[in-house]
Formats: sequence, C-alpha cells, structure tokens
Amino acid sequence: MSSETHEFKAEVAALLNLVTNSLYTNSEIFLRELISNAADALDKARYQALVDSELGGKELEPHILITANAQANTLTIEDTGIGMTREEAGQNLGTIAHSGTLAYLKQIQEAKAKGELSEAGEVNLIGQFGVGFYSAFMVAEEVSVHTRSGKPGSEPIIWRSKGDGRYAVEPGTREARGTSIEITLKGEAKEFLDRWRLQNLIKRYSNYVIHPIKLRIVDA
Ligand code: ADP
Ligand code: MG
Repeated sequence: MSSETHEFKAEVAALLNLVTNSLYTNSEIFLRELISNAADALDKARYQALVDSELGGKELEPHILITANAQANTLTIEDTGIGMTREEAGQNLGTIAHSGTLAYLKQIQEAKAKGELSEAGEVNLIGQFGVGFYSAFMVAEEVSVHTRSGKPGSEPIIWRSKGDGRYAVEPGTREARGTSIEITLKGEAKEFLDRWRLQNLIKRYSNYVIHPIKLRIVDA
C-alpha cells in the first residue's frame, strides 16, 4: 500500500479553520470527545464480536489508555476497540458525517458575517456542540491516528494531519486491533501533559464510560 495525500472536503476545512483558530479557554473538551470515541469503538467491538465470528482481536481486554509523554510532547489516547480500515479512516475522519455539525458550522458562519458573534461566543458554541474528533486540533500541532480494523485481511494504517486542509494516509505498524490517537501538543497546550490536570479531566469525562481508563505519565 502506498502513501497518499488528500484534501479535506470544503466543509471540513472550514470547520478545522474555525477550530484551530479559536481561543483556547474551552479546549479541554477535546479529551471528552476522544474518550467518548474510544468508548464507542469498544462498544462496537463488543457488539461486532457477537455477530461476526471472523472478527480479529476477540481476545483483547477492552480498555482505554491515556499516555502523556513530556519528552515527546505528545498525548496519546489508545483503545482496543473496533479500529478502522483505510477506507473507513478516509470516510470517518475526512468528512463531516453529522448534519448537526454542519448546521452548527452554518450558524456560526452566519452569525460571524452579521457581526453578531464574539470570539468568546464562538468558543462557547464549540464547547456546547462538541465537534467530535476535530476538536483535537484545538490543542494539536499534528494528529496521527494509528489504527487497525478487526476485519480479516485489513492492514494497519496511519492517518495524519496538521489540520491545514490536508491529511495523509500511509501504511502503519499497529499489530493489535484498535486505535491510538497521538496528539503533538501546541506550545500553549502543555498543560495536558500534567498528571493532576489529566486526572481531573478524566474523572469528569469518564462518568458514563463503563470501560477502564488508565493514565500513564512519561516524565521528561
Ligand atoms: P461521532 O463520534 O459523533 O460519530 P466524531 O467526529 O467524534 O463523530 O468521530 C467521527 C468518526 O470517526 C466516528 O463516528 C468513528 O467512525 C470514527 N472514529 C473516531 N475515533 C475512533 C476510534 N477511536 N476508533 C474507531 N473509530 C473512530
Ligand atoms: Mg465522537
């Protein structure tokens, strides 16, 4: 499999532009979004294991592992969930599937055009709506998604983007089914390497998550 670079669809590019250029007061919600995606992926794997005897990775313990690495300046959210094939990654991470997000984007653009929306208001809206996976770009210089689907014959891949209108997909090395989302943090987002800050957020956002969440800190 070769490496490929793709342009985001226009609406994704617009959303990313909004997200990456917003103020950061509310940026912590990216962790809620990524934990909830990891939990969804674990739920899907549990269901799929029941209906698909061919699914790989049935032996895996369901868990979410969050690793803060101060040396590498990365925060990684890993799950042993359903994973994504190359096609699924392109589809799920390269387009906005949710009409709610599109409607929200339109609303913001209209309000901005009329001069009705302050920057603070914009950030508030992002927090309320939750723009899912793309909220990672509030804190990320680059996002790398290492993923492997449990579908027989699927190859591991890496999906990468700096949130600048393009993403690349290349062959990966992940052996186990699941997904690891590695965020290289922006300079102003270093707080998300701090143990106490992370423990606090995880406690807050894991209320409805039945799967175990572990936190690992790698000190500089
Ligand atoms: P939503 O969770 O509302 O569907 P997101 O923007 O948060 O929207 O995520 C988009 C899609 O990307 C998800 O629906 C899912 O298909 C895929 N995805 C995101 N994170 C993961 C993950 N950790 N494992 C598997 N698929 C994922
Ligand atoms: Mg989500």
